[in-house]
Amino acid sequence: MPAITAVDSQLFVIPLPEVMADAKHGDHTHFELVTTTITLADGAQGTGYTYTGGKGGHAIVAMLDHDLGPQLIGRDAQDIAGINDFMEWHVHYVGRGGVAAFAISSIDIALWDLHCKQLGQPLWKVAGGASNACKAYCGGIDLMFPIEKLLSNIDGYIASGANAVKIKIGRPHLAEDIERIARVRAHVGKDFVFMVDANYSMSTEQAIAASRAFAPYDIFWFEEPTLPDDYRAYADIADATTVPLAAGENLRTLQDFRYAMEFSKLGFIQPDASNCGGISGWLAVAEMARAQGIPVCSHGMQELHVSLVASQPHGGWLELHSFPIDRYTTRPVTLHQHLAVAPDTPGVGVTFDWDLLAPHRYRA
Ligand SMILES: [Mg+2]
Repeated sequence: MPAITAVDSQLFVIPLPEVMADAKHGDHTHFELVTTTITLADGAQGTGYTYTGGKGGHAIVAMLDHDLGPQLIGRDAQDIAGINDFMEWHVHYVGRGGVAAFAISSIDIALWDLHCKQLGQPLWKVAGGASNACKAYCGGIDLMFPIEKLLSNIDGYIASGANAVKIKIGRPHLAEDIERIARVRAHVGKDFVFMVDANYSMSTEQAIAASRAFAPYDIFWFEEPTLPDDYRAYADIADATTVPLAAGENLRTLQDFRYAMEFSKLGFIQPDASNCGGISGWLAVAEMARAQGIPVCSHGMQELHVSLVASQPHGGWLELHSFPIDRYTTRPVTLHQHLAVAPDTPGVGVTFDWDLLAPHRYRA
């Protein structure tokens, strides 16, 4: 492949349709989107991206512009593994597991876009090819919604074709969480897949008590009950309860995932290609999960992950996240008979609508 001649990153600050809250991040009023477009000597272009919950986007763009992008000029875009290894150690000292994970992911996805375009194939085929469709659930950021609004929000999911939903838990009193869970289960019926997510707001003891209390409501998984890197605590919770545990959105390095696989006794793993080393990182985690017999799921940016989850023989559930990045692309994710279908276009299948994004571009 011709050499890299330009690496251009942009920051977009995009308001959410309404304020959304979970147990540990407070109110979300907007999200940040960082895009990275890599241009080759022959004019070919690939675009990658990452996102945040509204904080840190400037630091990610600064790392891309000052530390990573300029170092890639002249390199062979085909050497994705070599570029990833270089980036990891180049910014390791200040960025490992944090801002660097997001910046590296944005570049890695751009390189995969170029790679798939050069092959003339869609990502789902290049990444594994098991299928072009996968199961999907709607992930609400709904902790502070009054119950009636919580239920009407879920009605919207059902109208979109969903047969699975995840709600936030971690209200100040467990009884509030249990009431919300009971109301949702009664509302959606017994056949609906129903998960809960505490955003690591609980102690081990609180998580065990919560899981035992909501187990009768047939909860499919209990996501991030406690601190994501307290691997032993996850094992303690898993040993004391029956609802499978899920985590991954806050694991950043492959070492984090190795520890989680070894110790956390997870039922589901949820890597996010925007923050675990891009598509390369996501696929490395998927391989670990396959070896452990754990379904590989996703977190956030459904417009990209639909291709990755579908591509894997042990693909689990795609999260249709409440940050609507896909609404700023030419192909928002839709459901067909409850399944999300991956794009068939060559590349990673995420084409931004730059006109729609333009009003939200950050300019210093
Ligand atoms: Mg979560």
